[in-house]
Amino acid sequence: MSKIFPRNSRQTLPTAVGGDGCYVIDSSGKRYLDGSGGAAVSCLGHSDVAVTEAVKRQMDKLAFAHTGFFTSEPAEALAELLIAHAPGDLERVYLVSGGSEAMEAAIKLARQYFVEIGQPSRSRIIARQQSYHGNTIGALSAGGNEWRRAQFGPLLLDVSHIPPCYEYRLREDDETAWDYGQRAAQALEDEILACGPETVIAFLAEPVVGATAGAVPAVDGYFKRIREICDRYGVLLILDEVMCGMGRTGRLYACETDEIAPDILCIAKGLGAGYQPVGAMLCTGKIHDAIASGSGFFQHGHTYMGHPVAAAAAHAVLTALLDRGLVERAALMGDVLQNRLAEAFGQHPHVGDIRGRGLFRGIELVADRNTKEPFDPAMGLAARVKRRAFEEGLICYPMSGTIDGRRGDHVLLAPPFIISESEIDELVRKLSIAVEGAVGA
Ligand code: PMP
Repeated sequence: MSKIFPRNSRQTLPTAVGGDGCYVIDSSGKRYLDGSGGAAVSCLGHSDVAVTEAVKRQMDKLAFAHTGFFTSEPAEALAELLIAHAPGDLERVYLVSGGSEAMEAAIKLARQYFVEIGQPSRSRIIARQQSYHGNTIGALSAGGNEWRRAQFGPLLLDVSHIPPCYEYRLREDDETAWDYGQRAAQALEDEILACGPETVIAFLAEPVVGATAGAVPAVDGYFKRIREICDRYGVLLILDEVMCGMGRTGRLYACETDEIAPDILCIAKGLGAGYQPVGAMLCTGKIHDAIASGSGFFQHGHTYMGHPVAAAAAHAVLTALLDRGLVERAALMGDVLQNRLAEAFGQHPHVGDIRGRGLFRGIELVADRNTKEPFDPAMGLAARVKRRAFEEGLICYPMSGTIDGRRGDHVLLAPPFIISESEIDELVRKLSIAVEGAVGA
């Protein structure tokens, strides 16, 4: 019997033993098409020789040097490359081991920034309902997903959660998408004023909401207005591109499509593409310099930050994305995926919405397509879709999201950027079988 403490004690999992392009192979030889890159991680598939070679080379040279004593060649090279392609004024890179660590670092950096510049009254974070930013206490506090937060309420920080920009459910029938976006953004200004601008550190959001919503981009104009509001009140904008960054949406960073840049950007997942656990927080020179010329010490840190092997892997991943035109490919194949999903589910009685950008797509499952009534949560629909898909040999990422206290179900798709048209056909065919099985069963 396995001695691993599992995510779900009622499940026995197959043992993964191999990877081949877009497929994961288990110990019985069964092949699973990785339609969600695990959780939007495996952007290069499971057998990228350039990345594994880079990891091996670094391993042979130097496995570890603590960042309290040394910097390292791969960490410097990665930071250089990240900054060369970063949006806006991002100038410094803080390397960590994953998404939650990047978010924790962002929250603490934002707070310390205001302490350093003499505004210690600022301590409040504003984030959005229907969001997930990680499972550590700070990141979980920022997230608005009720299911994930439920048991830990007494331990969490007091964070304000405003409604998300979620056109499918929250735009009024007589409202244009633009007007809706402006109204949704207005909620941030209202909350800043209600709290008192002198108390607010940062607004924190995912440009395209992943796990808790199923690839929901904001409508045009929303983030530009958000950026203006943050600037007006001196509030930092922290963007969580842990899922939607690194080319996933067909641009290197999702915020490029929204034509804004953050003060702090968090990335992970696709940064290491699964070859190493790695994440990063990028910040502006202004934030860095406030600390450098103030106390000089960012009061944070982890043992494995800036890990040379993880940095070498991430450098090889980013090089692959840039040199092989894989971000452009994610945009192109994303259109193919969207078209195939529209063919398969466009008229489906239980699919209310098909959405996303690039190879970051979602479908929302509803009991009634006309009223948008969600399925009864007691049905456990997301888990059923996941199970049926897995039986068919498809990895996808169904989840339940919460909005206004009501749970709804969606399926998130985030396949590797190397996916072919025939593999997209296989993905959509297997997903159709899983949805039919789960809804009908
Ligand atoms: N932010 C977002 C948007 C995420 O989707 C996730 C993970 N699903 C995280 C943060 C946390 O990342 P990690 O699991 O690497 O800690």
